Amino acid sequence: MAVPFRRVSKMKKRQRRSHLALSVPGMITCPNCGELTLSHRVCGNCGFYNGKQVVTPKAKKDDAE
Ligand SMILES: [Zn+2]
Repeated sequence: MAVPFRRVSKMKKRQRRSHLALSVPGMITCPNCGELTLSHRVCGNCGFYNGKQVVTPKAKKDDAE
């Protein structure tokens, strides 16, 4: 229900906003290349997951194949 903001005490406002904090996603460093990646996801930098090459990473422009 809408309440004029001067009617809401600082304590009540802060108590309400105590649940609004953003959480940081679980990040790990890739054991293959050391890049920061989301845990339980394929590394976006080298394409490794669980010690294996799962996907081929997007070719960098200076990489000759
Ligand atoms: Zn990696």
